[in-house]
Amino acid sequence: MTQALKSGGLRMTPQRLEIIREIAKAKDHPDADVILARVRERVPMLSRDTVYRTMDALVDAGLINKILMPRATRFDPDRLPHHHFICERCGKIVDIDADTVSPLPSVPRMLDGIGDVRAVHVHIQGVCHRCSEGHTQDQKRARS
Ligand SMILES: [Zn+2]
Ligand SMILES: [Zn+2]
Repeated sequence: MTQALKSGGLRMTPQRLEIIREIAKAKDHPDADVILARVRERVPMLSRDTVYRTMDALVDAGLINKILMPRATRFDPDRLPHHHFICERCGKIVDIDADTVSPLPSVPRMLDGIGDVRAVHVHIQGVCHRCSEGHTQDQKRARS
């Protein structure tokens, strides 16, 4: 990932490396604030701005995917084709094998009068088992 970024002309700083290390191993599709909190454990001086700009650079370089959610943009280091189950209560994003979903219609790389296509994903919306069993985050917090 860092090699591709360098050849893309992005200056590699120790802070950027820490951010890239964090998103590369993330399995939970974190948003920028979650990444910020995790990297700050090692790099307390890290600014929010640096995280946001690094994430944008990684997306522009095609190294990670952006998942636009109502409340925040989440990021995904897994560039292999797959889909997402999104819990509408807790916002959890779970990877779904591309094979689980029937084949997508082929989408042209450019849609006339609309724009260029960067990725085609299926967002499967629902309620995860934890939420449907009533274990919401709030209840968990109240019990502990
Ligand atoms: Zn849930
Ligand atoms: Zn994913």
